[in-house]
Amino acid sequence: MPVLVMKFGGTSVANLDRIRRAAKRVGVEVAKGYDVIVIVSAMSGKTNELVGWVGETSPMYDAREYDAVVSSGENVTAGLMALTLQEMDVPARSWQGWQVPLKTNSAHSQARIEEIPTDNIMAKFGEGMKVAVVAGFQGVSPEGRITTLGRGGSDTTAVAFAAAFDAERCDIYTDVDGVYTTDPRVCAKARKLDKIAFEEMLELASLGAKVLQTRSVELAMRYNVKLRVLSSFEEQSDTAGTLVCAEEDIMESNVVNGIAFSRDEAKMTLVTIVDKPGVAASIFGPLSEAGVNVDMIIQNVSEEGVTDMTFSCPVDQVKRAEKALFDAKSSGMIEFDELAVDTECCKVSAVGIGMRSQSGVAAKMFKTLSDEGINIKVIATSEIKISVIVDRKYLELAVQALHDAFGLENAA
Ligand code: ASP
Ligand code: MG
Repeated sequence: MPVLVMKFGGTSVANLDRIRRAAKRVGVEVAKGYDVIVIVSAMSGKTNELVGWVGETSPMYDAREYDAVVSSGENVTAGLMALTLQEMDVPARSWQGWQVPLKTNSAHSQARIEEIPTDNIMAKFGEGMKVAVVAGFQGVSPEGRITTLGRGGSDTTAVAFAAAFDAERCDIYTDVDGVYTTDPRVCAKARKLDKIAFEEMLELASLGAKVLQTRSVELAMRYNVKLRVLSSFEEQSDTAGTLVCAEEDIMESNVVNGIAFSRDEAKMTLVTIVDKPGVAASIFGPLSEAGVNVDMIIQNVSEEGVTDMTFSCPVDQVKRAEKALFDAKSSGMIEFDELAVDTECCKVSAVGIGMRSQSGVAAKMFKTLSDEGINIKVIATSEIKISVIVDRKYLELAVQALHDAFGLENAA
């Protein structure tokens, strides 16, 4: 029998009614002849609650116990889903991560999957079981302790199972009906994409589009797992949602396929640093040790041996970055006159694999922003992406203007 992986996110299993609705969708696929692996998240809000309880109990918590607590939400939904399927006369049982076992490394709260043996579940399929319900987000370390895969990790569980079982497809059921050209709450003209390439999805996910955990897209790309994102709240056809797939499987595509943004960015500038070999290393070394996710970097033209260095990072890391830089200054590692911090920034990015072969995308983006009177503070580009940092108050305007300029409301 072909295997299908179906993953249900927190809103799709938020209460018993919704679990029933999801189970019905599973029943439809079983009737088509699939052996189904269902991956479930915790009921929506549950993981946040559990994380909160851990923090309240123990501010400097033991990460192994954090994982023991926060993984429990998925155990509940896995059991309930199996029971619901049994009530519908669909042969099903639940598995917790350690029972599979989904083996991970020991990086608690951010563990990486190392292996998923298939024999256990395949044997049950061989005995006539139709659905294996697996608790997402969790695994077991070499030491035999429960681990979790990082927030949003059930997506990664789902893709990893699809790869391990060579599934025909991995369907991700969520509360939106697919991947959009941009966030419809910010731009009313946002359009659902029928297909999107892995690489574009990877950029969109890491740039702040929250539909899929970034790691799940990386994994899907590596193992060429066809991923479909679709809504559990609508009647579904075989072509519903958005298919995330290899570039070769997409015939026509716009040059730009998505406008991504992240709202809470900061820009920091070290004023008057000495421009000599090793200076960048002495700045970004301490920042990385402090766990600051530096994103874009620009170094100004230097005059008389001194220059300025600007970088961007998430707003909530500004305090940490300041401390790291001032500590490095007092220890004599770096010299600078002033640290200018601008916490009122956001990042807007245009993404599209078509950029590889088409020129003029950057020029069009900059012209569009300038026509709206929006000043660009930092620019970064990659092969398939152009990102700019602008004032946060322009976020909506910038996204809408770029969505128009690149004609995203129309399919290619
Ligand atoms: N329940 C976990 C979380 O909220 C994992 C997931 O739902 O993907 O992060
Ligand atoms: Mg999610």
